[in-house]
Amino acid sequence: MNIILLGPPGAGKGTQATRLVDSRGMVQLSTGDMLRAAVKAGTPVGLQAKALMEAGALVPDEVVSGIIGEALDALAVDTGVIFDGYPRTQAQAHSLDALLSDRQRTLDHVIELEVDENALVERITGRFTCATCGEGYHDSFKQPKVQGECDKCHGHEFKRRPDDNEETVRTRMAEYRAKTAPILPIYEARNIVSRVDGMADMEEVAMAIAAILDGKPA
Ligand code: AMP
Repeated sequence: MNIILLGPPGAGKGTQATRLVDSRGMVQLSTGDMLRAAVKAGTPVGLQAKALMEAGALVPDEVVSGIIGEALDALAVDTGVIFDGYPRTQAQAHSLDALLSDRQRTLDHVIELEVDENALVERITGRFTCATCGEGYHDSFKQPKVQGECDKCHGHEFKRRPDDNEETVRTRMAEYRAKTAPILPIYEARNIVSRVDGMADMEEVAMAIAAILDGKPA
């Protein structure tokens, strides 16, 4: 099964993708994560992407489609894939069609996480992760149980994404509205779009997604 999780920054795509990886053995392909790794490693892709990401602008289509193609080539064809943060433009949506059909894969579901943009700014600007194990936290909603110590691995270092500041978040949202939301009709025409209330509790969102993937009525 191949699925796309779609929604503005902070809608919970990454959180829900991680849950599907744990519960269904699917693989998460997050272009944001791959680009951040490229920036950290200082690769040519990373050098090209760094300033754009810091500004909240999109990285060129051919760059992200290239890294998705390479990532797909590293997977067995029967491994289920969750596309998280890709495609983000019409050109990427068309590239994804070609990348999938070249590899005998089909797209089964596009799940849109619907959210209230103003609430998202608080959600995003407050989030931070454990630098060691990646566990997610939030200034208002989920502080570590012991201040300064990760609940999961007991690490003491935490980090924040440089693009999780209010100004950049607003730009990322504008990019979503202008370039990403318009790709939904492509998938609506194929009858593969489902919508989930992304403002609901994380568990409820996970249950709604599971029902869609299992073909159960909401
Ligand atoms: P994300 O982690 O998905 O919020 O992505 C963080 C940043 O990486 C975005 O604001 C873009 O600068 C860049 N990025 C991630 N995925 C894509 C994509 N599919 N197309 C273009 N830029 C992307």
